[in-house]
Amino acid sequence: MSPLKLVIIAILLYLGYRLLISDWKKKRRKRDDEESPKESKLEDDQVEDVLVEDPVCHKLVPRRQAIRLKQKGRQDYVYFCSEECCNKFSQTGEQE
Ligand SMILES: [Zn+2]
Repeated sequence: MSPLKLVIIAILLYLGYRLLISDWKKKRRKRDDEESPKESKLEDDQVEDVLVEDPVCHKLVPRRQAIRLKQKGRQDYVYFCSEECCNKFSQTGEQE
């Protein structure tokens, strides 16, 4: 092997090494960008944070904090501000 070939191989190896490093850095930067955005999660929370009306005391409560009650023969839930109201509602429901 001539010395010139060795030099060329060394340069090629160096260039290949440089390419690998820059590619790896790009990938790292891209991954960092993907991890940072949390806005989509926030939007989901806002969708869940809907105000619902308590049918007993007619107070508006965030749905996430409300007490849920599923009525018989109904697909949707009824929401209450407290267990007290929930109990009142189910008691009046039984009387009907
Ligand atoms: Zn209530």
